[in-house]
Amino acid sequence: MIDAHAHLDDRRFADDLDAVLARAAAAGIERVLSCAEDLASSERNVLIARRYPAVRVAVGVHPHRAASWSESVSGMVNRLAHDPHVVAIGEIGIDLSGRSAPREAQETAFIAQLTLARALDLPVVVHVREAGPLARELVDRAGGARGMVHCFSEGPDDVDEWIRRGFTVSFAGTLTYPKNDALRRAVARVPADRVLVETDAPYLPPKTRRGGRNEPAFVVETLAAVAAARGEEAADLGRRMAENASKLFRIRWQGT
Ligand SMILES: [Zn+2]
Repeated sequence: MIDAHAHLDDRRFADDLDAVLARAAAAGIERVLSCAEDLASSERNVLIARRYPAVRVAVGVHPHRAASWSESVSGMVNRLAHDPHVVAIGEIGIDLSGRSAPREAQETAFIAQLTLARALDLPVVVHVREAGPLARELVDRAGGARGMVHCFSEGPDDVDEWIRRGFTVSFAGTLTYPKNDALRRAVARVPADRVLVETDAPYLPPKTRRGGRNEPAFVVETLAAVAAARGEEAADLGRRMAENASKLFRIRWQGT
């Protein structure tokens, strides 16, 4: 199966990435999609993917770093996106939680990267915090997109809004927290061919790992919680998610 969203270039993995990815492989995680936060992070992630066959990459500028977006960054992201390890533009999006870049800078970077992804025929990995309606309006304004909403955090009804636009919806360790019944109701509404799980490692560890560093191997705990919420077998669901990721990101599972 796949961890559909992590940040392997984070400095918390700098000393032991070999061991982290070995534990992921031992847990049955055959692919990790490592997502960039800005141009430097995009470059680091491509280098990581060249070293580790399990890793695929999304390049782009996160809403937290939207103020760094420029014509020249756009050109460099475009160039990096042609690396064979790059399967998506991300993570991009809108974050109105108050911890992010000014809204105007976020909108500019988001629209530009949605447009770039369309031009390159790549899917997008979208970060949405307290901004669902605006993010969807911008996706519509950009002419639509193919992609994944990562770490879904809206209500169950909002699932339908993303599904209607052709998106896949991915759930993180937050779904395992006792208070998050709404997320468990939300995941039960996602069609089988549009659901994924992720760690967002090193952030957001699942319930039994709270307080520590998250890593791709821990995605199995979130998979188990998703399977329970959907009334499915975890092994079947994990295989289906691998197929979902393979279709969305055009990842091949044999060889590299
Ligand atoms: Zn992330």
